[in-house]
Amino acid sequence: MPADLLRQIFGFDDFRPGQQEIVEAVAAGRDVLAIMPTGGGKSLCYQLPALMRDGVTVVISPLIALMRDQVRALREAGVAAGALTSGNTEDETDQVFAALNDGALKLLYMAPERLASGGTLALLRRSGVTAIAVDEAHCVSQWGHDFRPDYLRIGALKQALGVPLAAFTATADAETRTEIVSRLFGDATPQTFLRGFDRPNIHLAFQAKDGPRRQILDFAAARPGQSGIVYCGSRAKTEALATALNAAGHSALHYHGGMEAQARRDAEARFQREDGLIVAATVAFGMGIDKPDIRWVAHADLPKSIEAYYQEIGRAGRDGLPAETLTLYGPDDIRMRRAQIDEGLAQDDRKQADHARLNALLGLAEATGCRRVRLLSYFGETAAPCGNCDLCDAPPVLFDATRPVQMALSAMLRSGERFGAGHVIDILTGNATEKLRERGHDQLPTFGVGAEWSRAQWQAIVRQMMGLDLCRPDPSRHGALHITDAAHPILRGEQTVTLREDSLRRAKPAFVPKM
Ligand code: ADP
Ligand code: ZN
Repeated sequence: MPADLLRQIFGFDDFRPGQQEIVEAVAAGRDVLAIMPTGGGKSLCYQLPALMRDGVTVVISPLIALMRDQVRALREAGVAAGALTSGNTEDETDQVFAALNDGALKLLYMAPERLASGGTLALLRRSGVTAIAVDEAHCVSQWGHDFRPDYLRIGALKQALGVPLAAFTATADAETRTEIVSRLFGDATPQTFLRGFDRPNIHLAFQAKDGPRRQILDFAAARPGQSGIVYCGSRAKTEALATALNAAGHSALHYHGGMEAQARRDAEARFQREDGLIVAATVAFGMGIDKPDIRWVAHADLPKSIEAYYQEIGRAGRDGLPAETLTLYGPDDIRMRRAQIDEGLAQDDRKQADHARLNALLGLAEATGCRRVRLLSYFGETAAPCGNCDLCDAPPVLFDATRPVQMALSAMLRSGERFGAGHVIDILTGNATEKLRERGHDQLPTFGVGAEWSRAQWQAIVRQMMGLDLCRPDPSRHGALHITDAAHPILRGEQTVTLREDSLRRAKPAFVPKM
């Protein structure tokens, strides 16, 4: 049920690291203190449980603008939410009171200052409040930089209403934590979630596809007798890979959603019980699996998003012992994933967000430095180079790509940021297609300036530019590339760009005729 709500209301297919455990604890009515990095997805951890529980959840938040944004987003998703803040019009406040009276509200946002007014407690008592959520809970700390005196009233509110409280903050130092607990929870001991997102025992690695079946077989061969999962992009591939793995002397099963329920249960039970079994599976495999000693996870095809990637590799090494991962990716995957998004039924803004999540994963695939630094920064955490990823093991050769990147950006700009990568590359390589001549793009000063690089090399460059978020495809306009703010300093020559030389070397070079 949480997974259904996650999809229907919030439009996400997977939980972010850490979210699911917190959602379950809050939904179960426990007192919870959750420390999550900024951007980690805290709000969902109280919004989703509020929908699973009876009655109203009161959310105390210090920032009026943020409350209003959240209420608007929730309402758009069809959730009965309202806010009582000093920014309300009289009408808005009346509406909230009416909804509370009708027992129709699920989430009531409130600034802490509101708790100072005498009527508030009576109102909340009458309104069937069944839980309290506190955002930015460190504001209760007198020693912190964000102290809000009215946060001190929250503890008494919890006592008076006799309901569970979930407190969220990104500030993790031990003193602040202790203070939050004593001021908000009184004598109760909350269940505390302080897991950063990092899983340092998991080795991260990506490879561009280059004989993918052999790459997977080599990876498995180097880990004989270990339990592992190979995630595949299609049902047919799970069967083909399991056959190939068995032929290579491993014990392998396949698993996908098209199998009979009993056959699926059997496969799960065998994997759980036996040592050294490999399962070639679609993403249907894993939800119910709780096997601590999965030693490796490989992706035979690119996952759908960075969230899905992290959740899938996260099934390895739950025992904390070293575990390995390998994710393969190729241009066909990228095309397939893009098409899946574009052809889906989602709204345009959701599609755009899905493209962005895919871009984040591509950026990770083509990262120029430590993968863990990049991955954790996507989830809002900062880290130092990890020493446990393929790029820390063997740093890639970089080259100064400022000139080709400037060329590509200027080709995008000069064609009005209205064309996809194919057209932009036609301009750069001087390929005078009919479409190009029709628009007069063969007359642009950038026409043919990049002929020293091949199409495939330009594709690698543009892909890495997307990974660096210098340009973005617009899904509602057939992937038309527009440049981002981050690109301006490069265009102005104030900043240089380095890209990976190997991905250019792998791509077929341009045919340069001998003079
Ligand atoms: P914070 O922890 O800083 O309060 P938010 O709750 O605002 O973070 O979430 C940060 C971003 O992460 C938001 O854009 C939100 O939509 C996104 N997000 C949250 N949960 C998920 C998820 N499960 N999958 C994808 N994106 C998510
Ligand atoms: Zn690293």
